[in-house]
Amino acid sequence: MTLPNPLAPARLDRDEPGALAPQVWPASARRDDRGRIEVGGVALADLAARHGTPLYVLDEAEVRTRAARVLAAFRDEARAVGADAHVYYAGKAFLSADVARWMRDEGLRVDVCTGGELALALAAGVPASALGMHGNDKSDAELATAARSGVGAVVLDSAEEVGRAADAAREAGVVLAVRIRVNSGVHASTHEYLATAREDQKFGIALSDVAGVAAAVRERPELRLLGLHGHIGSQIAGVAGFAEAARRLLAAHRDLLAGGPVPELNLGGGFGIAYTSDEQATPIEELAAGIVGAVAATCAELGVPVPDLAVEPGRWIVGPAGVTVYTAGTVKDVALETDDGPAVRRYVSVDGGMSDNARTALYGAEYSVRLANRDSAADPVLVRVVGRHCESGDVVVRADLLPGDAGRGDLLAVPATGAYHHALASNYNLVARPPVVAVSDGADRVLITRETIGDLLSRDAGLVGAAEPAGSLR
Ligand SMILES: *Cc1c(COP(=O)(O)O)cnc(C)c1O
Repeated sequence: MTLPNPLAPARLDRDEPGALAPQVWPASARRDDRGRIEVGGVALADLAARHGTPLYVLDEAEVRTRAARVLAAFRDEARAVGADAHVYYAGKAFLSADVARWMRDEGLRVDVCTGGELALALAAGVPASALGMHGNDKSDAELATAARSGVGAVVLDSAEEVGRAADAAREAGVVLAVRIRVNSGVHASTHEYLATAREDQKFGIALSDVAGVAAAVRERPELRLLGLHGHIGSQIAGVAGFAEAARRLLAAHRDLLAGGPVPELNLGGGFGIAYTSDEQATPIEELAAGIVGAVAATCAELGVPVPDLAVEPGRWIVGPAGVTVYTAGTVKDVALETDDGPAVRRYVSVDGGMSDNARTALYGAEYSVRLANRDSAADPVLVRVVGRHCESGDVVVRADLLPGDAGRGDLLAVPATGAYHHALASNYNLVARPPVVAVSDGADRVLITRETIGDLLSRDAGLVGAAEPAGSLR
């Protein structure tokens, strides 16, 4: 049962069991003198005792530092070539009022893509002028709200949206700044990118349609063209995909300059992070230098001034700042036949699952897991961490090592869960969504409260007026 286990992926050979790999844990993560993991100066075990599990923990200093770092990186590079840079935090990765305020404190803008995200950002006090709004199917009501509230920029995603956005602006009595989302044909995922004439997806307009849509924008005095917008994917390593997309967008950008000003270029988000210790994210400074360098070089070739740049990272800012804490339950050893002989996979169930981490089931994403509440000298065992949902694909961590004595009642922590975890959480199996708690300087603060069974039942119209069951549980 202990290693070597033929079911163990090779990457675990190089992993030090129990270690907190710096690229997947917040910088503040450490083990205290009792072997308990702490983040932001607070032991995860203490947080679990106060807030229950499953629990999302977000390291505020890590979020703020990363936000400031990405802004400084792009701004320094842009200023060196005579331009400016704006960073929009992509709220869809994880949006709460406090996180929106942290972004403002650090000088970032906020990117939203639905009426809900827009309402939250406005309610949190983010000035509308610091908001960008995109989305491939914005309703008239969403466009009206965006225009009325004075949103700083709307990303038009189709030719038919031009008229609807202009009408919303006229109705609101404002001039709406707009970007045009372009389907550049560049699609990137993790380590590779693909460049075709047109990517087979729903977002944006074809490069060949840019001139026509821009002309339509310029015909409407209620609209002001900011520039082109591209977003080539998510969890992308390296500069090449962004550089290729920038080159394609800039060729269209140059053509638009003949018809009037085009002050900026928005290259979207998608900067990748490390989820396991064998991965390394491209440093953001290297990305900024490479991307801005490619923009500047292309502008020089085309004989056009370098526009102001905008980027929209979500995952890169919050992903590595989040840790999910679970309580372990049932432990089951499953005997299997492999090509290399018999082997055992240990299934450790936790009190969450695909309702709080959809990415493993959705994308086959890889994570790591650590025993969080104590030290253990027991030999490491290959485990698969699974949830409590009625589905065999309900996996949280596909493969990692845990001390052989880790079991019921222990706390398990899964790092790199700050982005697209709470945001993608569901109520599958009528499970209530976990709270999000921020840690900072040894103190903790609830950002989002735990959903209750009562919250869930309250939406069922067939139960209106019915008493909540006695002794209602979480
Ligand atoms: C999702 C999205 C982002 C953020 O992507 P990350 O991978 O989280 O950086 C930015 N811009 C647009 C248009 C998006 O759809």
